[in-house]
Amino acid sequence: MQRLEIKINGIVQGVGFRPFVYSLACQLNLTGFIANRSDGVIVQIQGPQQAIEKFTALLSSQAPILSKPQIIYKNKIDIVDAEDSFIIKQSQTAGIRQVVVSADAAICQQCKTELLTASDRRFHYPFINCTNCGPRYTILADIPYDRVNTTMHKFKMCEPCQNEYDNPLNRRYHAQPNACRDCGPELWLCDNKNHKLSTNYPIAKAIELLENNYILAIKGLGGFHLAVRADNDKAIENLRNRKFRKAQAFALMVNDIETGSQLADISISERELLLSPVSPIVLCRKKDNSIISPLIAPHSRFQGLMLPYTPLHVLLMQGDYPALVMTSGNSSGEPIETDNSQVLAKLDTIADYFLMHNRDIFTCCDDSMVKVFDDKPMLLRRSRGFAPVPIALQSKSGKQILAFGADLKNTVSLAKDNQVYISQHIGDVENANAYDNMVQTVQKLQALVGLKPEIIVCDKHPSMMTTRYARQYDLPLIQVQHHHAHVAAVMGEHNLDGPVLALAADGLGFGDDENIWGCEFLLAKRDSFQRLGHLKSIGQPGGDKAAKQPWRMAVSYLLNTYGIPKGKELSRQYLKGVQAADINIVAEMIEKNINCPATSSLGRLFDAISALLGICIENSYQAQAAIELEYFAKDIPDSYQVNIVNKNDLAIIDPSNLIQQVITDLENNTPISIIAGKFHNYIADSSSGILCQLANKHNCSQIILAGGVFQNDILLTKTIDKLRNQKFQVYYNQKLPVNDGAISFGQIVVADAILTNTR
Ligand code: ZN
Ligand code: ZN
Ligand code: FE
Repeated sequence: MQRLEIKINGIVQGVGFRPFVYSLACQLNLTGFIANRSDGVIVQIQGPQQAIEKFTALLSSQAPILSKPQIIYKNKIDIVDAEDSFIIKQSQTAGIRQVVVSADAAICQQCKTELLTASDRRFHYPFINCTNCGPRYTILADIPYDRVNTTMHKFKMCEPCQNEYDNPLNRRYHAQPNACRDCGPELWLCDNKNHKLSTNYPIAKAIELLENNYILAIKGLGGFHLAVRADNDKAIENLRNRKFRKAQAFALMVNDIETGSQLADISISERELLLSPVSPIVLCRKKDNSIISPLIAPHSRFQGLMLPYTPLHVLLMQGDYPALVMTSGNSSGEPIETDNSQVLAKLDTIADYFLMHNRDIFTCCDDSMVKVFDDKPMLLRRSRGFAPVPIALQSKSGKQILAFGADLKNTVSLAKDNQVYISQHIGDVENANAYDNMVQTVQKLQALVGLKPEIIVCDKHPSMMTTRYARQYDLPLIQVQHHHAHVAAVMGEHNLDGPVLALAADGLGFGDDENIWGCEFLLAKRDSFQRLGHLKSIGQPGGDKAAKQPWRMAVSYLLNTYGIPKGKELSRQYLKGVQAADINIVAEMIEKNINCPATSSLGRLFDAISALLGICIENSYQAQAAIELEYFAKDIPDSYQVNIVNKNDLAIIDPSNLIQQVITDLENNTPISIIAGKFHNYIADSSSGILCQLANKHNCSQIILAGGVFQNDILLTKTIDKLRNQKFQVYYNQKLPVNDGAISFGQIVVADAILTNTR
């Protein structure tokens, strides 16, 4: 006989872990108990040694799919007499904050089977779930994760549901959103004037409407989607016009992997991601096909795909269409809609019909987006299914820290007890509603995590909304330079202390010299950095306006390279879609240096080239010019000659000779796909050249690539190849987006290091 005490943490709450342990102990005839602790569970187990060994082996290998148990210790303790069963001790955690809140999970196979079995009591019930699947974070208002603290509190379970909920051997034991048709949430369908359609099975009617090309707003897990069938040009055009979404690619929901495979190549890793409980949008290589409309993802090599991840989606995908566009239910720039009463007012000009339900969404979550790069998942948007699961960060300061990120692609992060809780994707907080969403998210996450911030962190940009908000706190404030935060996010994710050599390349970040930075070669540690090089600065005519109108940067580069008369002439010659008068105005701004802040942004150079090649002169969405330039780029070995100037101990890429080479190619009628290909090689050559040179000089073997520019697949691949050829270890964000979605996490990493070193 033996008795063992096992302490387990990780994700073990609300994911069926306790009933799993209970049934395992019962099967093996062991006695003892399992009890919740603030940071996990304690198990005491007693019985013959062999059975105990079997128990500990199965504990990890057979754990429920959503759980991630980590055994902290296993200790032999004294045998307890007079114990005849194994029990689940009720939570005694009032007042103690549970550390890990689990994320929302896609419908599991067992629930899916019940959903489609005519004899099952939940046949076609669109809110079926169990301890392995269903809503979590999006319905949770407070902790502990009990039904009273979720938006399910208003539904009283019927007797059969309550029995399942109370039975430790049932797979719905303590499944907080447990419900059925008799006691749970219900669905209805209305038109855009809020007239309910009379039907006893709204899903059948919704399918019929989708089959007939109507646009439906559908309430999902983390918010509303706008859905339309994917094979009808007219319907897609309609959605694009109504949503003011001219060109940005749409993600699709397909019924299964087989259908998805007709639209895109799906690798084994991509398939795994699609089928995982996170069930994100996965960017797969598009295939030529005639199944879906060419208007879905024009000018993109990728097709975003996802599988039905709620029971409602499973039922809707039974319609007679190959795929559905499932795009966030919002008007341009706004956060995703979650509220029944507001959605009608906000989306009535976009959607024809609304499929609604009365299970409230407490916290909105967009669909997460992932691609597979170098055979590993690489997050592009970390939201539903990931948030708010923390990323471990060994804190040296031990302080509780709240970080506000940056204004675009905003996330906020909370650090406590060696974990960093990163919020769902919040969006661009320049939008008033997105800003409110940020403020609310901070409050909600603070409550869930039980964070009492001691330090506030934000960007150095003085006029960012996030900076201004952070300043309102009456707490010590640390402001982190934007590109240092990008680099630190990679260091934190990969557990690097530095010094590392890094390139952070993006659209903009406020520099230490008060100029706009965006292509920065840094020698970085967690708490500090030194700028060793950058792209040569140039005027950005109109400031923010230039980010929306890439042609402005083309004019700037042409004038800078050729002087005024010739630069203007070339602008008129190659920027065909731009009015001559507009070119003149911008040229004058540059000439007289009016509203032309200097920028070293690589994103803006991509803009200039894209405009110059006639690919995109005006962005209808963020980074369109760069994304389309990548789309047109041909994979060729040729490159442009690189000019690196060393000035005041800084290595500076001077792209004037690049512009000249591009113009020469244009004069010789070189196809734009070749020019775009050569340009990508030029950027990879110049970046990796400087990185290798500086890394050798400063004895760094580790190189970091960070910033939104590295969402560019071609550029990332080529740069990494060149660096690995020189035997460097290369790191970039994988668990977090390489774009500004990682900034709040990076800010935490920097602040924690600064606090440690100044103590
Ligand atoms: Zn399930
Ligand atoms: Zn029920
Ligand atoms: Fe950035």
